[in-house]
Amino acid sequence: VNIILFGPPGAGKGTQAKYLVNKVKGFQISTGDLLREEIKNNTEIGKIITNDMNDGKYVSDEIVNKLIKDVVIDPNKKGRLIFDGYPRSLSQAKNLDLLLTNSNQKIDCIFFLNVHKDIIIKRIEKRKDIENRSDDNLKTIVKRYEVYMETTKPVLEHYAKNTNFHEIDGSLEIDQITNKIDTFLKV
Ligand code: AMP
Repeated sequence: VNIILFGPPGAGKGTQAKYLVNKVKGFQISTGDLLREEIKNNTEIGKIITNDMNDGKYVSDEIVNKLIKDVVIDPNKKGRLIFDGYPRSLSQAKNLDLLLTNSNQKIDCIFFLNVHKDIIIKRIEKRKDIENRSDDNLKTIVKRYEVYMETTKPVLEHYAKNTNFHEIDGSLEIDQITNKIDTFLKV
């Protein structure tokens, strides 16, 4: 199954993605992780995106689309893709549709983990202590939440019509969210 995890930063997409990777022997596609890796390795892309990432702004569709392409069309990963943090714009969603169609795939399930801003802020602050992610500080947390909610609205609308779209209360405990995902997934 190919799965999209949708939801604002801090909603628990990464945690559930790791659970799903284990469950379906899948491959996590976290554009946030891929981008942080570029910065860490000081690549050409890394140099271009550092400022925007630190400001909580989006990286260009062009760069993000390029980063995910090879994984999506990889025959060894076909039908076992877990998208975490992608697509985040309508243009990315359309790019994904095209890549999947061209490689004879589709999205089987979309989960929207919906959480209020106050809970997100608390969660990311906690995570910051553990992982010390460079793009996490209070100002950018709020910025990232707002940018996410605003810019992903069209993406949400794009998918919400599908029968395989499921909204889940992301303020629930991790295990409760996992249970709900399992119920919808039926695999
Ligand atoms: P995340 O780890 O998913 O919370 O992403 C961290 C940051 O990476 C975001 O605030 C954006 O700056 C950037 N980013 C991650 N995924 C995308 C995407 N699909 N499109 C554009 N920017 C992204």
